Amino acid sequence: MAEAGRGNSTATASMKELEALVKTCQLCRLSKTRTQAVPGQGNSRTEVMFIGEGPGYHEDKQGLPFVGAAGQFLNELLGIAGLARDTTFITNVVKCRPPNNRDPMPDEIAACAPYLERQIALINPRVIVTLGRYSMAKFFPGERISQIHGTARMVDGRMCVAMYHPAAGLHQASLADIIRADFRKLPVFLEQSRKVASPSVAVVEERMEEAAEARESVVHELETSVVLEEPIAQIEPRIKEEAAPALELSPEPQQAVAEQAQATKSRGKRASKKSEYKQMSFFEL
Ligand code: URA
Ligand code: SF4
Repeated sequence: MAEAGRGNSTATASMKELEALVKTCQLCRLSKTRTQAVPGQGNSRTEVMFIGEGPGYHEDKQGLPFVGAAGQFLNELLGIAGLARDTTFITNVVKCRPPNNRDPMPDEIAACAPYLERQIALINPRVIVTLGRYSMAKFFPGERISQIHGTARMVDGRMCVAMYHPAAGLHQASLADIIRADFRKLPVFLEQSRKVASPSVAVVEERMEEAAEARESVVHELETSVVLEEPIAQIEPRIKEEAAPALELSPEPQQAVAEQAQATKSRGKRASKKSEYKQMSFFEL
C-alpha cells in the first residue's frame, strides 16, 4: 500500500507535481548532462500510453518527447492507428537524455522508474504500447522484439503491446512497413482491451512501492560509486580526517567500502528481480 511517513513523494504526486519533481530531479547521473528533463506529454485521461526509451537531442532541447525524426515517424504511425497524438500520453523509460544517445544504464532506469510507475497509476491506461527494447523489457522480460512485435499480452490486468522503436524503421527501411502494419492493429487491441478487466488499485500501488524500493537501493549505490570513482589515495586522508576513529580501527578500509558496495549491489539486484511484472495470456491478431 502507498504508505504515509516514508517520504515517498513520488507515490502521492499528481501529474503536475510529478512533472515538477522530474524537472528538478537529480537522482541519477543523467541530470548532470541534460539540458532539461522530459517528463512526458499528452492527455492524462487517455486510454493509450506510449513508452519510449529516453529523450534524444531534440527532445532534450525542447523538453518534449518524440519531437525529432523518430517522433515524425511516430506521428505517421499514430495516424495509421487512427489516434490523434494529443489524445494519447507519450513518455519514456528515462526522463533525461543519455549523453550521445547512448543506451540508458540499469541504475538510471531503476532511479527513474518510480516516475513511470506513478504516471501509469495516474493515467491507468487500458493499453500500454512499448516502443523499443527498454520499455519492452519492463513488460515482456526475456522476450525478443523480432518475435513479439505487434502482439499484445495482459500484464497485471492491463494490455501491453510490443512495438519496434520508430527509429528502427528509419534506420532499416525494410522494417518501416512492418511497423506500419503493427500499428494498424492497435484499434483492434484497444477494442479488445475495453472488454477485459483493468488492474486493481492494489496491484498498481504494489508496483509503485517496488519501484520506490529499487530506487532507494540504486540511489544509495550511486552515492557509493561516486566515492569509489575517486582514487583511494585521495579519499584516504579525507576519510581519516572526517571519520578517523571508526575507520582507523578497520585494517582495510578499502575492502570495507568495497564490501558495502557489493552488499548494496546485491540488494539492488534482488529488488529489480522482485519488480518483474506478472505474465498472463497472449492476444495474437
Ligand atoms: N526516442 C525515444 O525513445 N524517446 C524520445 O522521446 C525520442 C526518441
Ligand atoms: Fe531523475 Fe530520471 Fe532524470 Fe535520472 S533520468 S535525473 S532519475 S528524472
